Amino acid sequence: RTVYVNGEYVPENEARVSIFDRGFLMADGVYEVTSVLDGKLIDFDGHAVRLQRSLDALDMVNPISTEDLLEVHRELVRVNEVEEGMIYLQITRGAPGDRDFVFPDPETTEPTIVLFTQNKPGLADSPAARKGIKVISIEDIRWGRRDIKTVQLLYPSMGKMMAKKAGADDAWMIEDGYVTEGTSNNAYIVKGSKIITRALSNDILHGITRASVLRFAREAQMEVEERNFTIDEAKEADEAFITSASTFVMPVVEIDGVALGDGVPGRVAQRLREIYLEESLKKAI
Ligand code: PLP
Repeated sequence: RTVYVNGEYVPENEARVSIFDRGFLMADGVYEVTSVLDGKLIDFDGHAVRLQRSLDALDMVNPISTEDLLEVHRELVRVNEVEEGMIYLQITRGAPGDRDFVFPDPETTEPTIVLFTQNKPGLADSPAARKGIKVISIEDIRWGRRDIKTVQLLYPSMGKMMAKKAGADDAWMIEDGYVTEGTSNNAYIVKGSKIITRALSNDILHGITRASVLRFAREAQMEVEERNFTIDEAKEADEAFITSASTFVMPVVEIDGVALGDGVPGRVAQRLREIYLEESLKKAI
């Protein structure tokens, strides 16, 4: 694989980042994941806008223009022959040459930027999407700025491990009795034909897939309600699903061991997945 590090394309085993990098020492960095279908980028613009928003929120300098970023994405897709998969992008506050809690001067310390591709054949025609996934609920103990896409992913990682141990696929996090989101995705329930998902705030990541899916749903005259829901309401829902750049729309068929509806992917989730794949591919670049 060829990867991109600080302006250069290099073989992955030759890529180097300093041990003083604040991403490594302090999780002082942000990231984006963009999916690739048919060799094209899905929702690239949305990811570029959110990247800038994350950087701004942390007073970090963006080392690359959106135009150049698109070019790097395309070049990596081309050289690594990615038909279906993902592009991971990470920008950290750089390596000031020592460890210090105080942010380094942006005049003297350049951010570190890294991109690499992941081939994932079967991303669109996914067996998991045909079967649906199982989730468990866990407490949401993350910090208060979950709207910033930082590389602090230890708790989401632990959540996935708790799910795995419980024989499930993922975990939905609960705060003050309400579902915030999945470990790496936004959470939804369906009652009748109404799609319910938590409204945007600092409590959840503003999913790029979420924004597209809700727009497509509204365009298709489907009813959308952005409000909090409890895990008990979710267990009694007709359907549930998650969205993210790497899963698109993924049906949830079980919550804490309770089967939803008939225990198979619901109609609304399946339809939304189809619409999302079709519409976002049309706009893919
Ligand atoms: N919520 C969290 C906590 C995430 O980590 C992610 C994606 O990584 C999402 C939601 C979904 O966001 P997107 O649709 O932009 O991938």
